[in-house]
Amino acid sequence: MTAWFFYAVQSYEGGSLYSVTTRKADMTRLLAIILLCLWSGAGMAAAELSHDRLSLAVTDELSYLRDDGGQLQRADVLARPPGAWQANGAEPFSKGYNSATWWLRFNVRNTDSPLPRKLLEIAYPVLDVVEVWVMAGTEVKSHYLLGDKRPFNDRPIRHRQFLVPLELPAGTADTVLLRVKSTSSVQVPLVLWDEHAFFDHDQGLLLGQGIYFGTMLVMALYSLIVFLALRDRTYLYYLLYVLSLPLFVASLNGLSFQFLWPTATRWNDQALIVTLASTTAFAALFTWRFLLFSRHLPLLAKGAVGFVVCSLLIAIASFFLPYALLIRLQIVISAAGCLSILLGGAVRWYRGDVSARLYTIAWATMLLGGMVLALSKFRLLPQSVFTEYATQTGSAVGVILLSFALVSRINEERRRRHEAQQEVFEGARLLQQVQVEALAAQRKANELLEQRVHERTEALEAANLKLEALSATDQLTGMKNRRHLDRMLQDEYARCFRYQRSIAVLLLDIDHFKRFNDVWGHLVGDDCLRSVARTMMEAVRIHTDRIARYGGEEFCVVLPETGAEGAAVVAERIRVAVESMSFEVNGQRIPVTVSVGVAAVVPDAAEGSRELVKRADAALYQAKGDGRNGVVIAL
Ligand code: GH3
Ligand code: MG
Ligand code: MG
Repeated sequence: MTAWFFYAVQSYEGGSLYSVTTRKADMTRLLAIILLCLWSGAGMAAAELSHDRLSLAVTDELSYLRDDGGQLQRADVLARPPGAWQANGAEPFSKGYNSATWWLRFNVRNTDSPLPRKLLEIAYPVLDVVEVWVMAGTEVKSHYLLGDKRPFNDRPIRHRQFLVPLELPAGTADTVLLRVKSTSSVQVPLVLWDEHAFFDHDQGLLLGQGIYFGTMLVMALYSLIVFLALRDRTYLYYLLYVLSLPLFVASLNGLSFQFLWPTATRWNDQALIVTLASTTAFAALFTWRFLLFSRHLPLLAKGAVGFVVCSLLIAIASFFLPYALLIRLQIVISAAGCLSILLGGAVRWYRGDVSARLYTIAWATMLLGGMVLALSKFRLLPQSVFTEYATQTGSAVGVILLSFALVSRINEERRRRHEAQQEVFEGARLLQQVQVEALAAQRKANELLEQRVHERTEALEAANLKLEALSATDQLTGMKNRRHLDRMLQDEYARCFRYQRSIAVLLLDIDHFKRFNDVWGHLVGDDCLRSVARTMMEAVRIHTDRIARYGGEEFCVVLPETGAEGAAVVAERIRVAVESMSFEVNGQRIPVTVSVGVAAVVPDAAEGSRELVKRADAALYQAKGDGRNGVVIAL
């Protein structure tokens, strides 16, 4: 899994000659590793890519000289004694940010490679000034001026990295002298390549870059479409972030200098600051909205505004102030911004925001890449393929994860909306149910009420009937009373008038009843009254309505559609029945008799029943006068 091609520069014992060997490039494995780095975020695998071995191969015997004043010439440094040069050791040459000029020197020898054309790669494309001499002994074979302070097309080989061609037939040896100066971090990772191997290797890297920039472009398009569809500014900030980040990466690895602004040497430095500042600002804005800082984390919301303002100021200041100062400031701000964003994400995650979880993981991935790069710039981490490509790997994976986070947020919002809708539906359903139940209860109550009213009405009617019957009945005899008879008589009288029929009235009075009471007592008198009543009712055999106790010991019978003769027959039948009635007191039969007055008429008016009764009464009076126990018909 280690090197699949490289030049090994092997030193002789204590000597300074190098042998150069070549191994074949294994494209498949390279591609697999790039994909692995890009998609799984397992960038650590890249640490094994043996870049450091390649560098080591050169830098093992690399020595350097620091020139603070920047005044030394090639002749001056070559004249210096060997002790004035410092050995670099196994690490790639890296001195961080400084204003010194650096001289580097190493010897190289092709021991057995049949291919004479080699390439020296200075794999840090933002160096300002790189001057290279290739010397055979003291003779200068070739001299190159490189660095991003010169137009891109001035380079001997037009490539985003600085490349110097070396003609090194087998068995020959050369000395390479470099002069380097930069306002960026001074890093000079040197790699010696067989020309073919370099371009094989480079195609793999270009494929990786293609995948990276393609991924970012797709993500940018995706967020643009989502923004246009939803009109939510969160996606606009995300879009601008996804556009800024690859621009920053392209500025860092020399691609934008090669393809976008090959002659803008001043801007090339500045672009690094501006793109990093805009990446930071849009990341902060995006996060601020996505994690709803102003609602949930007001302190971090202020922090986000601070990062945006600082980044904007630095981007503006990059037009006036020195690069070296501003890039360091911006890196500090970006690192602090990344940490706050991560903190905010973690807090929101902890508080249960589902999309904050993916967001935090995405940022952690990106932060890891960014931090690795920043730490390598400050020389706190060794430089390698991994540290150089960590930002790209981390950011591509992070951006993909972020888009998942955005989708998760859309889903979450949809779910919330759905739940709210369900709640409304459920509320409406419950309301409807309550209404239905209330209606049913009301209907039931109404039915119950109706039933009660009906029952009460019936009871009342029965009571009324009973009351009416009671009010029409004589208590002692159980016969109808005078009240009832008067009414009935009036009705019958009117009817007989209407049909011009005869109507008759009998008035009956018990003879000498006062005396009876006096002799036998009032209670026996009452018994007698009851017996007479019963006897009379049996005797008339007419509707019981038509006979009544008229008062005291007097009775009255109404006979509609009956003339005087018919009435006299009925009167006589009653008189005989009473006379023959056997009423006994203490085993002794007491004779009871009644006198009857009869009156009959064919009414000549609807009113007039009182007159008829009066006539019957007069006839009764006459019957008393005639000796009692007799019937008298009124004339
Ligand atoms: P007459 O033959 O002229 O009718 O003689 P009388 O004694 O029957 O005289 P009158 O008709 O004036 O008397 C009515 C008496 O009937 C008076 C009263 O003592 C008696 N009487 C009236 N109502 C009742 C009753 O409800 N019970 C009893 N025991 N006696 C009653
Ligand atoms: Mg009387
Ligand atoms: Mg009497």
